[in-house]
Amino acid sequence: MKDTFKHKGLRQQLVNIIKTKGIQDENVLKAIGNVPRHLFMDSGFLDHAYQDKAFPIAADQTISQPYTVAFQTELLNVKKGDKILEIGTGSGYQTAVLCELGAKVFSIERQLELFKKTINFLPKLGYRAKKLVFGDGYKGLPEEAPFDGIIVTAGAPFVPKPLLNQLKIGGRLVIPVGNDVQVMTLFIRKDEKEFEQHEFGEFRFVPLLEDKN
Ligand code: SAH
Repeated sequence: MKDTFKHKGLRQQLVNIIKTKGIQDENVLKAIGNVPRHLFMDSGFLDHAYQDKAFPIAADQTISQPYTVAFQTELLNVKKGDKILEIGTGSGYQTAVLCELGAKVFSIERQLELFKKTINFLPKLGYRAKKLVFGDGYKGLPEEAPFDGIIVTAGAPFVPKPLLNQLKIGGRLVIPVGNDVQVMTLFIRKDEKEFEQHEFGEFRFVPLLEDKN
């Protein structure tokens, strides 16, 4: 578990790449520059950790592309102390980025293997999420709601109602919506019943699976 000078250099190059691709939020860029992504990946992919690409992790899942992580995080507009719910903990990389931003992070994963691995791993790097949950992200986390922000890191065939309901007024839901291809969608809660909706182009994620799968 080493983070060397070389890794830091590669990470700075990665930050520059995602900056050229359009990420502007300095706090997000700093967070990407701080999280040792190579440690979140299986050993076979270590050499690729600082390419701007998604890679396989355990249980047929992927660690998202750094640009995508940065893009979603920028849309979430995280402020220090914000209560954030993540759906799809996976490797914990996005969780770590949110911790770097000073968020109180709650995260749900439905693959037991990944959940166990990540709940052990994150504290070793000093990342302390408020709560990592083994469960179904479609339901959100009603016992901890409302949230300042909710980020879904798998492709959702539809927008789960519980996630909208668990936002504070002014809160933001960032969710890739679609089956084969997803449209990055931002919902901002205006009041009890009203949500503003914005769309931000196409991305590809592994699917957000329902219970029956
Ligand atoms: N945020 C992760 C991305 C992992 S890919 C990272 O930074 O590495 C998406 C993750 O969503 C996978 O780990 C997958 O198992 C999980 N997932 C899929 N359907 C889910 C559901 N219904 N509830 C919670 N997690 C789910």
